[in-house]
Amino acid sequence: MAKVEFRKVGKTFPGEVRAVDNFDLSIDDGEFIVLVGPSGCGKTTIMRMLAGLETLTDGEIQIDDRVVNDVASGDRDVSMVFQDYALFPHLNVFENMAFGLRARNFPKDETARLVRGVADRLGLSDLLERKPAALSGGQRQRVALGRAIARKPKVYLMDEPLSNLDAQLRLAMRKELAALRKELGVTTLYVTHDQAEALTLGDRICVLNAGRIQQIGSPQETYDQPANRFVAGFLGNPPMNFIEGKLQGEGEVYVFSTGNQQLSFPRGHFPENFEPPSGTLALGARPDHFVLPGTPEVGETLSLEVELEHREWQGDHILLHLKGNFGPLVAKTNAADIQAVPEAGAFPVEIALPHCHFFGGPNDRNLLP
Ligand code: ATP
Repeated sequence: MAKVEFRKVGKTFPGEVRAVDNFDLSIDDGEFIVLVGPSGCGKTTIMRMLAGLETLTDGEIQIDDRVVNDVASGDRDVSMVFQDYALFPHLNVFENMAFGLRARNFPKDETARLVRGVADRLGLSDLLERKPAALSGGQRQRVALGRAIARKPKVYLMDEPLSNLDAQLRLAMRKELAALRKELGVTTLYVTHDQAEALTLGDRICVLNAGRIQQIGSPQETYDQPANRFVAGFLGNPPMNFIEGKLQGEGEVYVFSTGNQQLSFPRGHFPENFEPPSGTLALGARPDHFVLPGTPEVGETLSLEVELEHREWQGDHILLHLKGNFGPLVAKTNAADIQAVPEAGAFPVEIALPHCHFFGGPNDRNLLP
């Protein structure tokens, strides 16, 4: 196991593509960190730099107390699992899983013991003689995982390892990964563009956009206290709603003006002597924080006039697509709560005040973190 440290790491590809900029991240011994962000934000590049498959343009990477910028990939003692499995088609399951151990000259008996142990844990014991072509997608993914964990390297690197699986298998593998990480306790950097995977798997998650870190924190911190509008909109499904408008202090309250609605917020909702940044701000509220007519009160709320556009039944809950004169909103509710929601005409919905966020200023930062 090992500690990993990225210090001011940058990567510029030919053609002046700045894929990663000023990337600072410290991963503790045994910690499971998820790098998450949209396509092209630099996740794979960061992972490849740690694996030694890509050079750095700036900064340094340290594994334990050794700076590894100039250390060859094979000498870094990291193990990678890729999205496309990268299994050897001519080797059977046992040989695929034994490959890394044999390359490191593990004795034959020890290799067999380790591979059989991992195969057992991943439910592959009956498939050891099969070639990859005779396996299902989920089984291949298990073999790829098994090959990476057969030995205990200093660091596991996992690049979208579940992305080729169907929804059901993904869920099953996610559970397996969560159990394995507890059991193995190996420092892991896990890359995904799937926010649900990030929130469920990571000890901490690092949200990236356009090569830059937006926030590093526990899943709960990043979900409940997003550092900026990008993080707030990226984490959560459906994403946070944003209503754009202007905020001004007026006597005992702050007034948020949007469309033709004026929404008042007690001064206590903001820090002392709070000065709203000039220009347009966004009021943010998650779909699960709406209070519909007829449901129990939840203390101080903000009330908005909306109309129902349509409802989307999702099994255990319903999504209400609403519109106001400030734009569209999505509210999440359970079936019992929608009895009092009118099919036509305006009605009020409320948002519990403690769940109202404001974003604005440079990088649309969270003004009430
Ligand atoms: P995805 O989720 O789609 O895999 P990612 O977040 O992993 O995306 P990267 O693959 O790290 O993103 O790419 C980051 C940026 O660097 C992108 O703009 C990409 O086009 C660019 N890039 C990656 N590799 C190269 C390369 N070899 N040469 C030039 N540009 C590159």
